[in-house]
Amino acid sequence: MRQNFRLATVFGIPIGINFSWFLALAFVVGLLATGVFPQAFPSHARWVLWLLALTTGLIFFASILLHEVAHSLIARLFGIPVRSITLFIFGGIAQITKEASRSWQELVMAAAGPATSILLSGFFLGLWQAGGRADTPVSLMWQWLWLINLGVGIFNMAPAFPMDGGRVLRSALWGITGNYYRSTRIAISMGRGFAYVLMAVGALMLLRVSFFGTFDPFEGLWLIIIGLFLDGAARSSGLQLRVQQALNKLPLRDVMQSGPPELAVDDTVAAALAEAYPPDDSRVHAVGQDARFVGLVSEHMLRSVPPDRRMATRVGDLALPASRIAPFSPQTDAFTALQEMETRETSVGAVVENGVVIGFVRREALLAAAGLGAATPPRRGR
Ligand SMILES: [Zn+2]
Repeated sequence: MRQNFRLATVFGIPIGINFSWFLALAFVVGLLATGVFPQAFPSHARWVLWLLALTTGLIFFASILLHEVAHSLIARLFGIPVRSITLFIFGGIAQITKEASRSWQELVMAAAGPATSILLSGFFLGLWQAGGRADTPVSLMWQWLWLINLGVGIFNMAPAFPMDGGRVLRSALWGITGNYYRSTRIAISMGRGFAYVLMAVGALMLLRVSFFGTFDPFEGLWLIIIGLFLDGAARSSGLQLRVQQALNKLPLRDVMQSGPPELAVDDTVAAALAEAYPPDDSRVHAVGQDARFVGLVSEHMLRSVPPDRRMATRVGDLALPASRIAPFSPQTDAFTALQEMETRETSVGAVVENGVVIGFVRREALLAAAGLGAATPPRRGR
């Protein structure tokens, strides 16, 4: 999920907002300001109701944020890195870059979000009760926040992977049977099934088929969109699982491209290219300085330098620095390497043995080894 701008950093985790989030905020505020509040309080000044609707909408999204922060803090506690939290049209997503290695950790991590939503719901219920359930717009705000957080907590506990409830289901099955892959496949199938149920219910609502009362056709459309999104997420998880199964027993020694040709930091791009024959843009060179590994440079990067500047440009100026390249031992399995590259937001890793670079791995090559060709693997999130 692309962050369009950074909101803040909480516990060292960058919190971002995707543009689509504003659509969701506008929709919720509009619904409250033109429907919920004026229906209950037709004689109140409109600007007061709009202000309350905006406040309610913002508190609601702060609640979603807390739900994601809860997932993230538990992940942190188990030593699983969290890259960011992003708010977008369907709520929030925490980019947790690795799966938990134990089933109970996964269970606690997944349940933390819905548990937070339920706690928040109890908090708002308390505020509503404390105000004596008065017939005022502020009281209605607490009531709405109580119910919506309860709804978020319950909906997320649907046993539909990769939603929270699906993760709880997967970790429970995993804990009981000890079979991670089969448990995940079952939870993913449940996820896809749930997505189709949402879409079917949405379609019936859109066609104005009445079950119990009448529905706004727009709500039906919304359910179909959520169903499509969830089905896509479940299929991505399936793809991710295939990658994991194919790569997690494959040591990098067996997939790396060994012995990258060495270039020195002070070599000119012109000299480096003169040696690189036949031309191969995918070839990667290790860049060293006094036998020390400094970084990697691809022939594509070298060739991107305009010909008239190649004499004046040093290889060292172009090289991807070692700090941006994940270092791995030859025994590291390819799936762990792929996850680590994702955490570091890099697409290349160096295989290092006794301080010497003996090879390198590219993300594309690892995916190809998983039988995925050039397919883009799903980014993880929850
Ligand atoms: Zn969640």
